[in-house]
Amino acid sequence: MVIGAGLAGSAVAQVMAQAGWLVTVVDQAEQPAQAASGNLAGLVHPLLTADWNIRSQFYWQGLQATWRWVADWVEQGQVIGDLSGLRQALLSDEDLQISTKWLTQLDIPREWVRVEAASSANQPAGLVYRQAGWLSPPSLVQRALDHPSIRFQGGLEVEALVWHASSQQWHIRSGATTLNADAVVIATGALSRLNQAWQLPIRPLKGQVSYMNQQDCPYPLTGAMAHQGYTTPPVNGYWVTGATFEAPDVSQTTSLASHQSNAEKLAAVIPDWGLPAASLWQGRVGFRPTTADHLPIIGALPDADWVEKAYLSQPHNKALFQYPAQRYHPALWVSQGHGARGLMSVWWAAERIRDQILGVSSAAADAESEMNRLDAAVHPGRFRLRPWRKGQLSGHTLC
Ligand SMILES: Cc1cc2nc3c(=O)[nH]c(=O)nc-3n(C[C@H](O)[C@H](O)[C@H](O)COP(=O)(O)OP(=O)(O)OC[C@H]3O[C@@H](n4cnc5c(N)ncnc54)[C@H](O)[C@@H]3O)c2cc1C
Repeated sequence: MVIGAGLAGSAVAQVMAQAGWLVTVVDQAEQPAQAASGNLAGLVHPLLTADWNIRSQFYWQGLQATWRWVADWVEQGQVIGDLSGLRQALLSDEDLQISTKWLTQLDIPREWVRVEAASSANQPAGLVYRQAGWLSPPSLVQRALDHPSIRFQGGLEVEALVWHASSQQWHIRSGATTLNADAVVIATGALSRLNQAWQLPIRPLKGQVSYMNQQDCPYPLTGAMAHQGYTTPPVNGYWVTGATFEAPDVSQTTSLASHQSNAEKLAAVIPDWGLPAASLWQGRVGFRPTTADHLPIIGALPDADWVEKAYLSQPHNKALFQYPAQRYHPALWVSQGHGARGLMSVWWAAERIRDQILGVSSAAADAESEMNRLDAAVHPGRFRLRPWRKGQLSGHTLC
């Protein structure tokens, strides 16, 4: 059973169905993709950093996974989007020079990113990615759930999960309804009572995207573009530009000020573009499920009581081999905290969860392998264990 029918949950469902499992996906909303994954369009591109840090490495692998699952669907017109490339605008000559310099220092395939000078008023100077583009999340969610072994059940808010050792099954409770499952994956996004219940440290980060009716204003670019925000070609008659970052606001309402902020980001890259009347903008608010280290939470969920007993209540500075091995809840996984980049992480997450469920362990690989490092970087227990190991826990209070 997968709890949550957004990008994260639908990807897990598709990958597990392809692995031969029968999957039930439940969501509190009547239809899939009603929360963060409901925006008309979002960008897909690598995350470049000057030191090619662990986040860049993770999102590079995440992007490859997205390609493995989604590229053919886009090619065949089953998912709305375009993965044929993307320009990331650079606003100043200084940015251009810095990017040119550190791109030559990075050990990344030359063919997938290059610096290009401005070629026209609506093609400003920037980085041009070859393996990048944009996707419409609702159409991707819909396609991912479209499999004979996947059943969707909407209008069911999960209130509690209880493990029954006798039947080796989870009982999933919602009001008077109880469902059973051999394995459960929590993919509940930013706003969910299950996040607190299972100590998943998710920070909801409000964002607003703006939609412009094509009839009111022609699309100002030749393709999708990343800038201080991003802008994509029309979907269902609306082109999309966004997005704001509005923490700690948790209201569900769109605002004129946020539309103006989105429009200004686009106007900064195309100065000659006349700002359309803000009254013509429509839009949508969503909450990104973010984490403190800007990486998602992926994998089997550690048993919190065991973590307390075996580690947090013990001295933090013993040699690693002196501690007992981590224990996990039986048959319980999470694909969470996909933040502002879910399109580049949910398919990698789904593949790793599949491998863990099926017992295809990366332990066979060298302990220093990239996969092991990425598993550790997104490990669900890291927010409790890292501060303890560094001696930064006061008492045993955890967040
Ligand atoms: C404004 C904005 C712009 C963005 N732009 C981009 C972009 O350009 N590129 C990109 O890659 N990403 C982008 N993102 C991020 C991306 O949308 C998210 O990472 C992704 O949608 C998260 O998917 P999810 O499945 O984890 O969460 P969600 O889509 O929120 O899905 C979680 C689901 O769980 C359900 N649920 C929660 N609790 C329960 C419960 N107890 N019982 C049953 N169901 C429950 C909810 O109803 C919901 O349907 C953007 C996000 C926002 C908000």
